[in-house]
Amino acid sequence: MRVAFFDTKSYDKKSFDKYAGLNGVEIKYFETKLNLDTAELAHGFDAVCAFVNDTVDKDVIDRLSEMNVKAVALRCAGFNNVDMRHAFGKIHVLRVPAYSPYAVAEHAMALLLTSIRRIHKSYIRSRDFNFSLSGLTGFDLHGKTVGVIGTGRIGRVFIDIARGFGMKVLAYDKFPSPGLENADDVRYVSLDELYENSDIISLHCPLTDDTTHMINEETLKKCKKGVVIINTSRGGLVDAEDLLNAIKSRHVGAACLDVYEEESDLFFEDNSGHILNDDILARLISMPNVIVTSHQAFLTEEALENIAKTTIKNLVDLFEDGQCANELCFRGNAAEDCKSGKCF
Ligand code: NAD
Repeated sequence: MRVAFFDTKSYDKKSFDKYAGLNGVEIKYFETKLNLDTAELAHGFDAVCAFVNDTVDKDVIDRLSEMNVKAVALRCAGFNNVDMRHAFGKIHVLRVPAYSPYAVAEHAMALLLTSIRRIHKSYIRSRDFNFSLSGLTGFDLHGKTVGVIGTGRIGRVFIDIARGFGMKVLAYDKFPSPGLENADDVRYVSLDELYENSDIISLHCPLTDDTTHMINEETLKKCKKGVVIINTSRGGLVDAEDLLNAIKSRHVGAACLDVYEEESDLFFEDNSGHILNDDILARLISMPNVIVTSHQAFLTEEALENIAKTTIKNLVDLFEDGQCANELCFRGNAAEDCKSGKCF
């Protein structure tokens, strides 16, 4: 099986080479992102491997399908970059539903602690032998209330971490998890109740039509003055301009952003020699109470290992057994196709 691997970074290769080698999968790495201009590179390959900022829209799916590429193996959990309706019946779409919820939840807490204890400021000061403490006053997390939107794999790990700090948790999920609530410190509430009573809000739900720009001018007005917003999920959950305005008006106390709606042309790349054209991102980064990391929350040794292992297993399951437990979207009856040799 031959796989065209898009948006390759140096840290991808070690684990993918290991699992591809063990399973007889041939990978050709391309640094470019997948989009209509680059889809042609997949000519002659059985599958493409794509990441969060690759474009798998209607046109790309049609082009891949015309070239008889049979599967898109996402090496991530989210699939908001894939036109799933259009893919149905044309191409198999596989994903890695979970690789390390700890990586993302721990990064969310790292951002929160950095922000509220001003570690980003003190790190720079002490490198310049400036040991002044003025302006570095933080606040205790113990006893504070954190609102967690999305109580799936990552949200639940974040809740455990927050409870370890002695925080109260207000949770919201469209499909609440039975057994998560307890009498002491975790309670499901309505979104409005969560906005009104949380000192900190952490987003862990997927980007869907329902959740796009759920953090906006109107919902931010419902939040407590000084609220800290953490987004390690998807940039599109937050209307970044509304967030910026709420920071400028001092209503939002701090923001910790690992994702940004317009990240696809910027994040994961070294843009330090370029003029940043995105004024909203530039202004956000300029704020002393905003921390931006470039979609880094997943990036741990354990996560990279699990991503590669599961992605290669997904492909082997699909191409050898005709079915894959992590398939999101069917191209057809994979088992029948496998037997008849029509598909593979
Ligand atoms: P998950 O599927 O386990 O959990 C998502 C939860 O969101 C589910 O409980 C679901 O019921 C809930 N949900 C769905 N629609 C909702 C809505 N309208 N309102 C509130 N809740 C809703 O997913 P997960 O593994 O916990 O991942 C959560 C998100 O984290 C992913 O969607 C992905 O976008 C993001 N993520 C980011 C990174 C990163 O590096 N920054 C890495 C992995 C995942």
